[in-house]
Amino acid sequence: VIALLSLLLFQTDLELIREIVRTTGPLESVRGERLPLYVWPARSLGTTDDSELRTLLRDLDARGMVAIATWTEGDVALPLGKLQKELRLPVSIDATALTYGFFDGDSRTAHVDSDGRPFFDESFPTSRKMGCPFAIDHRTPVIVGRIRSAVARYREASVPIDFLFADWEVDGPLDSNGAWESSKRCARCRREIEGIEGFGSFQAAIRGKRAAIQKEMLTRPVLDAFPRALVGNYGVHPHDGYRYWLDYFEEHVEGAPVVLDQRARYRKWYPEFEETGFTFAMPVVYPWYRGYDWYDFESSDYRFFYNMLLAGTNAGKATPAAIPIITFVHWQPVEPPKRPDPNVRALSREMYQELLWHLLLRGHDALFLWSPKAEALEEVQIVHEVYRESHQYRDFLAEGVPIAFDVPKKAGPIVSALRKGTTLLVRRTDFDSSEEPVFLDVSGFRVSVPRNPGTTQLIEVSAYTPVAIE
Ligand SMILES: [Zn+2]
Repeated sequence: VIALLSLLLFQTDLELIREIVRTTGPLESVRGERLPLYVWPARSLGTTDDSELRTLLRDLDARGMVAIATWTEGDVALPLGKLQKELRLPVSIDATALTYGFFDGDSRTAHVDSDGRPFFDESFPTSRKMGCPFAIDHRTPVIVGRIRSAVARYREASVPIDFLFADWEVDGPLDSNGAWESSKRCARCRREIEGIEGFGSFQAAIRGKRAAIQKEMLTRPVLDAFPRALVGNYGVHPHDGYRYWLDYFEEHVEGAPVVLDQRARYRKWYPEFEETGFTFAMPVVYPWYRGYDWYDFESSDYRFFYNMLLAGTNAGKATPAAIPIITFVHWQPVEPPKRPDPNVRALSREMYQELLWHLLLRGHDALFLWSPKAEALEEVQIVHEVYRESHQYRDFLAEGVPIAFDVPKKAGPIVSALRKGTTLLVRRTDFDSSEEPVFLDVSGFRVSVPRNPGTTQLIEVSAYTPVAIE
């Protein structure tokens, strides 16, 4: 009912974006070199009127947000790019629609069984006919051609692309659900994948192929024309060899290696990012509805918080400092069933904002709010508050080095910190009642972090304040 009401409240994209501008305050100082806050509703401003667009672009920029051109086959939104260039705003693009689909339903893209009969993999919740990862090479020039011609139009118009992402998910080679079973049944896959009976070999072949496709489809076309552009795809980022969450379309694979943590099963993951050549990392830090029951924490908030911190820390710790991390975030539980369980409680607004702070202090450079339209206004307001408040520390966020990555297996204090010179920018969030300090070891000094709820603390590291470690 609430969702319906909000839909009625904001009938058009334009009304929603105006309401976002009206209800979020401008930054206290210019955004400068800091990456903007990306928000899903800014992928469609709902107007092509020049003066209205100018006003909206300036209003969003004053708030640290940026409009994103949504490319389609018929329209690459070049007028928006031209305007952004004129106003010296980052030209930002969502190329998702052009990336689908490698699997176009044609029987040529199907797996083939040992009798030569084509078959599709029906284990994914999609209307797309998922087929054989080794039968889509003829699709590559079609899709790469679309991206290349869109990029060429920007190049011809001298509109530089600063940021381009795709949300390319349920298409092309995938290793979850029944994909391994299907490949084992497919004569072509059996020829292509050496050691297909081992999940590791299967995953490496599939993810390697997926990385190569992303490089050819996204990285090369954009960087050939605009070498300094940020290019990336949803969910692709450096990591520690594990995946701590399941996407909405994913199910575990029987027999694939996992690490257990309470009722959670973390999958072994392939180093896909490094092979794509992407210039920014795009982790996903969502409170997945089905992940709520993975843990027994007494603190309801810590169930979502813990898993989100694991996912965020994974990317923050593994990503080199030179690679920006732009992270998909969302507050309300993602992918609830049609009849949600009343016992599953959303993360409190306060603790979600704390989590966003911890991401920023664990090396994440920017946030990208994904949201269905019905939730979008409040979701933007909440993430924007953190973006705006953190802007006073923009030098720290740009230059600071993250030094704390602990994700406690028991609900207690969580500490994240950036170090810049002899100063730490610290956030401590408590999930128990302990008043004890938490100690951080920094270059031979033990720094004490007191409980200080809802506050970002600046702590000096020097020979005079902390106690030196023996
Ligand atoms: Zn196959």
